Amino acid sequence: MKTLKIAIQKSGRLNDKSVELLKNCGLNFDNYKSSLISPVSNFPLEILFLRDDDIPEYVQDGIADIGLVGENVIAETKVDVAYLQRLGFGKCNLKIAIPNQSSIQELADLNGKAIATSYPVILEKFLSENNITSDIKMISGSVEISPGLGLSDAIFDIVSTGGTLRSNGLKPFIDVMSSEAILIGRKGEENNPLIQELIQRIQSVLRAKETKYVVLNVSKANLNTVIKLLPGVKSPSVVDLAQEGWVAVHTVIPERDFWGKINELKAAGAEGIVVMPIEKIIL
Ligand code: ATP
Ligand code: MG
Repeated sequence: MKTLKIAIQKSGRLNDKSVELLKNCGLNFDNYKSSLISPVSNFPLEILFLRDDDIPEYVQDGIADIGLVGENVIAETKVDVAYLQRLGFGKCNLKIAIPNQSSIQELADLNGKAIATSYPVILEKFLSENNITSDIKMISGSVEISPGLGLSDAIFDIVSTGGTLRSNGLKPFIDVMSSEAILIGRKGEENNPLIQELIQRIQSVLRAKETKYVVLNVSKANLNTVIKLLPGVKSPSVVDLAQEGWVAVHTVIPERDFWGKINELKAAGAEGIVVMPIEKIIL
């Protein structure tokens, strides 16, 4: 079968997580910072390391079969690709922000104003959907200093914690888009068996990340109460302990459900609660 090519970011905010995800999928490859292409030794796959901006087009044009990139970059490059799997990392928001003392109060006030951004395509689309005409100033970096320099009245940029905005005397004004890393492919190629296998491996890794393996001890008298408290699981395994009248309960549960239950479990008689990471969950 033809070797697949996957494009991932060479260095930057998505690189570490992308490499970690592929390694967690059981793929063996060298991650030398100097190489642009790395073969996977145990799967018919080659990894291309690229600037993130180039990934959507490489996939659309078939130079790479699949790619791993932020939704914001896909939207900005206007490509037509298939969304294969959301990946849950690289989360961020794209917002319009204005100076703290700005006279801009509502969306319509942006009419005729200058907005600096590195994402002119996404901004233009948002403004035209809202019947607003602004002067979009394309800047490739450090967008947040432009109002202070008198270059623009507002900015449109990626905001995660808001710290950069605050330190430049800016405040968030309007949320335009939220984004996370996503696996993309060429339209029409979604059913390629190698792509499907990779998606399945990725899903099993993502599922495992949200889930924990929990073991706890409880006396038989309290067993039913404890089992009722364990959320959203198929019947747990119950194993006799050497100590007469006691059992160990083994179960797999979503972590977010678990933390809220800990005190109740303890009050119901659960002891020695051990929470362990899971590597993969294959359904
Ligand atoms: P490249 O050199 O590959 O072009 P870059 O400088 O354009 O990299 P990065 O800053 O590494 O890009 O960000 C890559 C992606 O990470 C962004 O496009 C976005 O999807 C995501 N991201 C998540 N959080 C943030 C954040 N706080 N700031 C910027 N990008 C973020
Ligand atoms: Mg980039």
